[in-house]
Amino acid sequence: MDYDVLVIGAGAAGMTAAMYTCRKKLKTAIISIDMGGQTNLTSHIENYPGTEPQSGYELMKAFKTNCEGLGCEFINGKVVKVEKLTEGFKVTLAHEVSYKAKTVIACFGKVPRSLGIPGEEKFTGRGVSSSVVSDGQKYKDKTVAIIGGGNSAFEGAIDLADIAKNVYLVHRRKEFNADEVSVEKVKNLDNVEMILDAMPAAIKGKGHVTGIVVKQGEEEKELQVEGVFIEIGFLNDPAIIKNLVEVNDKKEIVINDRCETKTPGLYCAGDATIVPFKQTVISAGEGAKAGLEAYCFITSGKGVTIDWTH
Ligand SMILES: Cc1cc2nc3c(=O)[nH]c(=O)nc-3n(C[C@H](O)[C@H](O)[C@H](O)COP(=O)(O)OP(=O)(O)OC[C@H]3O[C@@H](n4cnc5c(N)ncnc54)[C@H](O)[C@@H]3O)c2cc1C
Repeated sequence: MDYDVLVIGAGAAGMTAAMYTCRKKLKTAIISIDMGGQTNLTSHIENYPGTEPQSGYELMKAFKTNCEGLGCEFINGKVVKVEKLTEGFKVTLAHEVSYKAKTVIACFGKVPRSLGIPGEEKFTGRGVSSSVVSDGQKYKDKTVAIIGGGNSAFEGAIDLADIAKNVYLVHRRKEFNADEVSVEKVKNLDNVEMILDAMPAAIKGKGHVTGIVVKQGEEEKELQVEGVFIEIGFLNDPAIIKNLVEVNDKKEIVINDRCETKTPGLYCAGDATIVPFKQTVISAGEGAKAGLEAYCFITSGKGVTIDWTH
């Protein structure tokens, strides 16, 4: 086994689960597409107990610091498959690396909507990102593309224009869903070029992204970019564990009040589940429960002592 616990997703649920398993001295890694998850998207979070109002990104950075301090490893990538083995689980990433673990805690929240084009999965974490907040700074003075026509894409383009040398905003129509104010701002930015009525067709690269192919009518052209940001919304997508869990009609994963799924050793927590009220504090609490349950599983039911009796 490579790990005692593999956590999928570095949002509030996943990072809290990892804090709990690390404190139990279980060898833990979090595999994630980004760091922070959806909480990153809120510029002002004022309902996380015990903290001053702050940006979601700052709050998630503090979660990450906690995890690292407790010895958690972070692996950047997209999980494409989780398989049950005779003993434990095999977790496979889009770039064909796989890891084995005694338990898996799935905390993949709401999944960024994907384009479904060649190269997209392969280069996720290696040039393809769904979060400007998390990954934008990596593209200082480089050329990037951002895909989408809603507020996330336009706000992302505004942020990227400050960091990158050039930004292409690629959108499949000429009309936008974004607020007029953001659209006007982007139109006035010298280093943002809009590529409209354009369908992304493929992402190219060699180890890392080098370009994106877009189709405008019959014409196809490749934009030379080092980063591609896909900002086209979120959905529930339990596909990576679909054979190991039950889902409801909203594609939320069915768990019991101990974050257990129908597969022993596979836990699930946070927005990905049937638990109501999708909120950061709720995901964090559910993650804590899942982490403690994983510990009970690995120690064959050894009772969990609450921290203040240590
Ligand atoms: C715009 C916005 C504003 C919000 N404002 C607030 C607020 O003010 N207060 C509040 O309490 N809540 C707020 N929320 C809700 C809150 O952000 C979510 O409830 C919370 O982020 C859920 O945490 P999670 O860990 O369950 O999932 P997520 O935050 O969705 O994290 C999921 C993680 O899994 C990763 N992942 C997904 N699929 C894979 C895969 N296949 N392989 C590897 N990694 C994967 C993602 O990259 C991400 O890191 C807001 C949400 C949005 C979108």
